[in-house]
Amino acid sequence: MLELFTPHFASKFIEENPCPLRTQVEYSPKEYIHIKGFSADPVGDNKAKIADGILHKYKGRILVLVTDACALHCRFCFRRNQKNAPIKNLPQKLSGVLANDPNIKEVILSGGDPLMLSDNELQNFFDVIPAHINIRIHSRMPIAKPERFTPQLLQMLKILGHRLIFVLHCNHPNELDEKSKRIFNFLSKNKITVLNQSVLLNGVNDNAQTLAELSQKLFSQFVMPYYLHQLDRAQGTAHFEVPLLTATKIFKKLKELLPGYLVPKFVKEVAGKKSKVWL
Ligand code: SF4
Repeated sequence: MLELFTPHFASKFIEENPCPLRTQVEYSPKEYIHIKGFSADPVGDNKAKIADGILHKYKGRILVLVTDACALHCRFCFRRNQKNAPIKNLPQKLSGVLANDPNIKEVILSGGDPLMLSDNELQNFFDVIPAHINIRIHSRMPIAKPERFTPQLLQMLKILGHRLIFVLHCNHPNELDEKSKRIFNFLSKNKITVLNQSVLLNGVNDNAQTLAELSQKLFSQFVMPYYLHQLDRAQGTAHFEVPLLTATKIFKKLKELLPGYLVPKFVKEVAGKKSKVWL
């Protein structure tokens, strides 16, 4: 069973058992237990496909699966059961979709992790997105492999400026360090909005104190907490799920610990819905 994580991520593992970072990437035999209600496509990606690699779920936004590759293999990943062959000429296909739909205001580059692409491949996507359309990148790279943020990549992101919304996926305060802080400092100094989304995970961050610490540490690194997701029920991830009743109690406590601007929205993605559902 493939476990994949970077030396940088592993350097933050701790002896404590369970280690909140190791738990996110370490294989568990529980992944083979089939539980009713957990499926290969829990958020309805397949139904939302309008072209190979391009999804249209929410009004005014399209999502592009630019790669399957990631620097980490998160065992709770909601796309863990979906492996697609690389799609040829995806930037050109994206360009065609954008030309035919004047209502698109934002393109979300997702995957996988978009920053697994080379700078040239990434630039090919930037080049086909007209200037009036915002670009959102979802990535775990600042905490998985900060060395990916080379001066060249930073310069490419800087050029996008306020059109770029960078959404970090970070679940535990131990994932953040001085290297991530330097990256976010650069992005925020260059008018790039930096947000974070987390998944509520059993054995990782399923208590209000840890989540409060995460929000505070994110803020100290110029990142605003954005979403806290109830787990998407992908097959093989049931052992990560926090029951909804427990989850709502944790979230209630979290609200008591933080000023409102540091409280992420607690949401769930429901296949076929026109927006995320607030819990
Ligand atoms: S897509 Fe995101 S959550 Fe899934 S394995 Fe890659 S980095 Fe982890």
